[in-house]
Amino acid sequence: MGIKVVKFGGSSVADAIQLKKMRQIVESDPERRYVVVSAPGKRFDKDNKITDLLFMCKAQADHNIPYEQLFQVITDRYSAIAFTLGVTVDLESYFNEIKDNMAAGCSEDYIASRGEFLSAILVSAFLGLDFVDTKDLILFDNKGRMLTEETNKALAEELAKHEYAVLPGFYGSYRDSGEIKVLSRGGSDVTGSLVARAVNADIYENWTDVSGLLMADPRIIKNPKPIDYISYIELRELSYMGASVLHEEAVFPVRLSNIPINIRNTNAPEDPGTIITTENTYNNEKVLSGIAGKKPFTVISIYKNMMNKEIGFVRRALAVLEDQGINFDHIPTGIDSLSVVIESKELEDKLDDVLKSLEQSLHPDEINVTEDIAMIAVVGMGLARTVGVAAKITAALADAGINIRMLNQGTSEINVILGVEAADFEGAIRAIYDAFVE
Ligand code: ASP
Repeated sequence: MGIKVVKFGGSSVADAIQLKKMRQIVESDPERRYVVVSAPGKRFDKDNKITDLLFMCKAQADHNIPYEQLFQVITDRYSAIAFTLGVTVDLESYFNEIKDNMAAGCSEDYIASRGEFLSAILVSAFLGLDFVDTKDLILFDNKGRMLTEETNKALAEELAKHEYAVLPGFYGSYRDSGEIKVLSRGGSDVTGSLVARAVNADIYENWTDVSGLLMADPRIIKNPKPIDYISYIELRELSYMGASVLHEEAVFPVRLSNIPINIRNTNAPEDPGTIITTENTYNNEKVLSGIAGKKPFTVISIYKNMMNKEIGFVRRALAVLEDQGINFDHIPTGIDSLSVVIESKELEDKLDDVLKSLEQSLHPDEINVTEDIAMIAVVGMGLARTVGVAAKITAALADAGINIRMLNQGTSEINVILGVEAADFEGAIRAIYDAFVE
């Protein structure tokens, strides 16, 4: 029998109705053996995620503000779910233990992790499957870096003892102290990926509330086409540019073992969703996989005659950014010019200092700053082997009357990055999408 690891996000475990859908999904396929769950998320737009409420509880406790009422809101949600589902599990004793630990001044990570812990306790009772705590299985060093190989070994050894199991997402512990440590927000995706690698799963199914990735942002393109297949590397490019469906780090563990990820929709389980695979198993027919973009960016352009002969020029420019702790995105260069493209939020309050330091370090002829630039990534494995892609993009933008401020093909040749005025952002995405897809 094959092994599928299934992870259900916050919206898929938000209430009893969602949990019933989840049970149907798990039980309809005996290969779905390891179930990783998030804490209950939002049930409707203005609702609260349990994890946010837990963080608030801790903040109130730290400021000596009574938190009991808020804690009650949290426990009520779990109790209501258990009651509606008819699950008999002694939630009260878990609630009391958490309350005692809160009173004793537990860490923020501990309290945040209880959302997933209680969720997994409840789901394991509901599905009638073993509960396996990830606390001593997902391990970190003293600096908070994940011990990937030790984690893999610990998970593999423990899960070999359970044919089926439910595990909480989002947390592990420091190997030396045993104290709980949570991952970054949305980290249950990473837990699912670690589990999939450890049990050498055939597939990692990530169940959420959308039927996979779309070729473009639906707020910009009406009914964009879904992406059936995409490679890990393309997903990285699209996620970096703002397309978000999976935690950034979730790709790495499964990628090491060539395990595909399937993004699925708990509310539409019949939809095939998106399969994310390694490049070599990739269905290579289409040129374009997706378009994504972000704004605003700031472009600092530096001009100096004979710059190309000045050894160390670029290094000195980048050292200025490094000294100020600024991350940059692109550095298109000309013979006598160099531009640095930086997300504007990186430069908040720092722009004047950066410009001063650049003057001092480089003695340029001129420095210009252009703000309100949008960057767009056109991503596809097919771009590398298709002639005329850049021409098609530029023609589409010219027809739409959009001026291109920057055009750059990534070294991997799977993306074309372009910069346009922020006001042209949506128009540019529409023009490119229409040229390639419609
Ligand atoms: N519950 C955590 C969060 O809200 C982790 C997760 O859902 O993946 O960030």
